[in-house]
Amino acid sequence: MKDAFLTKELAEAIASEYPTPFYIYDEKGIRDNARRVREAFRWNRGFHEFFAVKALPNPVIMQILKEEGCGFDCSSQTELMLAEALGSTGEEIMFSSNDTPPEEFAYVNRLGGVINLDDITHIDTLLSVCPGDDKAPGGVRFPETVSCRYNPGGVFEMANGIMDNPGDSKYGMTKVQLMEAYQRLKSLGVSRFGLHAFLASNTVSNDYYPHLASRLFQLATEIRRETGIALSFINLSGGVGIPYRPEEMPNDIRKIGEGVKEQYRRILVPEGLDEVAVCTEMGRFMTGPYGALVTRAVHEKHIYKEYIGVDACAVHLIRPAMYGAYHHITVLGKEHAPHDHIYDVVGSLCENNDKFAIDRHLPRIDKGDLLYIHDAGAHSFSMGYNYNGKLKCAELLLREDGSVRLIRRAETPADYFATLDVCNIKGLP
Ligand SMILES: *Cc1c(COP(=O)(O)O)cnc(C)c1O
Repeated sequence: MKDAFLTKELAEAIASEYPTPFYIYDEKGIRDNARRVREAFRWNRGFHEFFAVKALPNPVIMQILKEEGCGFDCSSQTELMLAEALGSTGEEIMFSSNDTPPEEFAYVNRLGGVINLDDITHIDTLLSVCPGDDKAPGGVRFPETVSCRYNPGGVFEMANGIMDNPGDSKYGMTKVQLMEAYQRLKSLGVSRFGLHAFLASNTVSNDYYPHLASRLFQLATEIRRETGIALSFINLSGGVGIPYRPEEMPNDIRKIGEGVKEQYRRILVPEGLDEVAVCTEMGRFMTGPYGALVTRAVHEKHIYKEYIGVDACAVHLIRPAMYGAYHHITVLGKEHAPHDHIYDVVGSLCENNDKFAIDRHLPRIDKGDLLYIHDAGAHSFSMGYNYNGKLKCAELLLREDGSVRLIRRAETPADYFATLDVCNIKGLP
């Protein structure tokens, strides 16, 4: 069974002030987990987790993670602006973008963030906006530290089978390109180098990071042999997953940290590469389980199937519609009732994939019941959109002291119309 971090009573009290649907995040859950991550990698002196901002780009949450020692992994200018607004600069920022607009390279370089190059051609893009001290109009220096993203191609396999398919993914460089990129960067005066790879997403396995680490550590030794470069850091990126389904076993970050350490000792230390910092860019694992979407049952419909209509829709949480992703649902107050009904739980979009659950065994749902949709703390609010003119909902924080803080208000029609040119149209706000 998966437990909600809200009771029905608390959820109703919150809903009386902030109408459903709303997102709510659990500060204590986020802090405790971030501490476990730090503890698990304490053995590595330079360890740093760069929270993947795209997972939950709310500055209040980011501030909490910053207080717990995290930096930020950004991939766009607005994400960089969020990190900047929180006072993060320099090596507290990792910029792991792809298909990157040149002006974003210039922006991150001005902040002193670490650029993680997705492609060898991006060296020229970077040169075009940061040509170096002498030639640069505003004195924009070419960065001293640069990381490169690796894509081994093929399929990514572990003992328990194929995890993902890097050969089909648009990210990173081939090994040949990687070696060439390091040489070229060195000739441009870069003095500190990193290596990055993201080979599988949402891995519910304690073996993913250790396995990835063994491959990257091995590659680090090859890089040194071929280019003479001793890497300063190796970035395991994201991909550590969470158990969306109640029968899945959660990852044990302590074991994951130990597993990476073992590979570090086995591969890097004997090669004298024992100063390499390990870093991570986890998003889902950092906040996923500590957020929920709370929505109210507003309709029931009996045709060829049984439908429960709720006041949230795919605009608020697109993962089920987009990936067929499973999100567990708890009907608050009916946690222990028999799950003897089978429902499709649907939103109001004119899109038949707007379903939070299909053929789900749930307790009998009555109109007015509050449904708690689990594991919506990452890649959930942030993937929202505005189809059907639907408005995004509020985000709330359940603080450690039990109080609730509004950390993003719900959109209003005025927000939806704000980008239109409505000066000749009367009647719109
Ligand atoms: C999305 C992303 C992450 C975070 O992934 P999670 O699965 O949320 O851990 C980290 N790094 C990069 C480059 C990403 O694109």
